[in-house]
Amino acid sequence: MRTVAVVGASLAGLRSVEELRNQGFAGRIVVIGEEVHAPYDRPPLSKAFLAGTLPAEELALSEEDFDAEWRLGVRADRVDPRAGEIHLSTGEVIGADGLVIATGGRPRTLAGTSALSGVHTLRTLDDAVALRADLQAGVRVVVVGAGWIGAEVASTCRSLGLEVTVVEAAFIPMERALGPVLGSLCAELHADHGVDLRLGVGVDSFSHNGSRVTGVLLRDGSHLPADVVVAGIGMEPSTDWLLGSGLPLDNGVLCDTGCVTSIPSVVAVGDVARYRTAEGNHVRHEHWTNASEQPVVAVRNLLAGTTVDSFRPSGYVWSDQYGVRLQVAGETSGVDEVAVIDGSPDDRKFVAEFRRAGLAVGVLAMNNAKLFGRMRRQLAQPPGVTIPAS
Ligand SMILES: Cc1cc2nc3c(=O)[nH]c(=O)nc-3n(C[C@H](O)[C@H](O)[C@H](O)COP(=O)(O)OP(=O)(O)OC[C@H]3O[C@@H](n4cnc5c(N)ncnc54)[C@H](O)[C@@H]3O)c2cc1C
Repeated sequence: MRTVAVVGASLAGLRSVEELRNQGFAGRIVVIGEEVHAPYDRPPLSKAFLAGTLPAEELALSEEDFDAEWRLGVRADRVDPRAGEIHLSTGEVIGADGLVIATGGRPRTLAGTSALSGVHTLRTLDDAVALRADLQAGVRVVVVGAGWIGAEVASTCRSLGLEVTVVEAAFIPMERALGPVLGSLCAELHADHGVDLRLGVGVDSFSHNGSRVTGVLLRDGSHLPADVVVAGIGMEPSTDWLLGSGLPLDNGVLCDTGCVTSIPSVVAVGDVARYRTAEGNHVRHEHWTNASEQPVVAVRNLLAGTTVDSFRPSGYVWSDQYGVRLQVAGETSGVDEVAVIDGSPDDRKFVAEFRRAGLAVGVLAMNNAKLFGRMRRQLAQPPGVTIPAS
C-alpha cells in the first residue's frame, strides 16, 4: 500500500493517522477535512469552552502532523473506491490504494428554523463560537432534547445564570440509554438546578420577528418565550459523499467486526462506522472513546488487507453536567436489572450495576470515579476473574 487517504480530520481521523505511523506505514498519507480547523476536541464545546473557561487553543488534539498532507477546509465530494480515487471540492483528485472513512456526523436540525437567527446546533467549534456569542446576560434559552448534549448545554447555560427551559418529547429523559430510574435522576438534576423541564411534549413551531426566533410553541399549546434555541436532537452520520460509491450504507457505513467495509482497502471509524458485533448486529457509537479506540483495529486490518482483528468496544462514555460527573461503561440498554451497589442517588454519589441474566454487563457512576474504574476493569475480564480492590 503506497497512499492512504483519511477523510475526516477530527478525532477518529487523527487517531487513524497516528495508528498508520505507529503500525509502521511509511507511505503517503493525505488527510481531507471539511472544517478549516486542525483536529480539536469536541466534548468541551458543550462544557468549559461554552462556559468561556477554556480557550480554543486548548482544544487541539495534537501538535504533530505525522508527516501527513493535511487538506483542511476541503471536502471530499465523492469517491470511486475501486479506481482508488477521491474527488475533492477543490477539483483535485487524490489517488489512494487505502481509504479511511472518518466523517462523523452532522447534527439534526429543527424543521422550519433554517432562516431564523438565534437557533443553534452544536457539533463544531464554529457552532460553539456562534452559540456562545448569543449567550448574553438575560437571554432566555430553550434547549430541545434532553440527551447528553442537550443536558450539558442546559447545565452550562444555568452556570452562566441564564433562564433555561428544556423540552423533551419522552416522558423520562435518557430512558432508552439508562432505564427509567436513572433517567428520572437526570430529570431531577435539571430540576435541582432551576431548569424548567417540559417532558412528554414535542415542539410544534417557532415564533419569530421576521428574522430572529422569539419563542417555541409546544404541541400542548404552550408558548415558551426564547431568545436562543438549541437543538440537541441527535445527529446523522455523514455519508452523503459516499452515495454511488458502491459501499454499503445504512445509518452509517456498514462494516464487519474489524471496521472493514465490503472493500478490504476501505475501513470506517468513529461516529460514522456501523460495525458488526460478535452477536451479528450492526451498531454505531457516538462517543469519544469509541472514535479513539476503533482506529487501532481498523488500521491493522487495512494494512493487513483483510480482517485479522475484531473491534471490542469498551463502551465508555462520560458527561459533566450540573457539577456532577457521570461515567458509563459496557451495556446499559436491554438489561433486566439495575442495582445501586454503592452510595445513593439522593446524595448524587453512587455506582449502579446493569445486569442481564444475573451477570453484570454495564456500570454507571455518579461522582465515584474510583469504584467506577475498578468495576469498568472488572467488566472487561472474563466471568469468574475478580479485580482486587486497591
Ligand atoms: C458538543 C459535543 C460534546 C460531546 N461530549 C462528549 C462527552 O462528554 N463524552 C463523549 O464520550 N463524547 C462526547 N461527544 C462525542 C464525541 O465528540 C464524538 O463521538 C467524536 O467527536 C467523534 O469523532 P469522529 O472523528 O468520529 O467524528 P467527528 O468528530 O464528527 O468528525 C468528523 C469530521 O469529518 C468532517 N467531514 C464530514 N464529511 C466530510 C467530507 N465529505 N469531506 C471531508 N471532511 C468531512 C467533519 O467536518 C468533521 O470535522 C461530544 C460531541 C459533541 C458535538
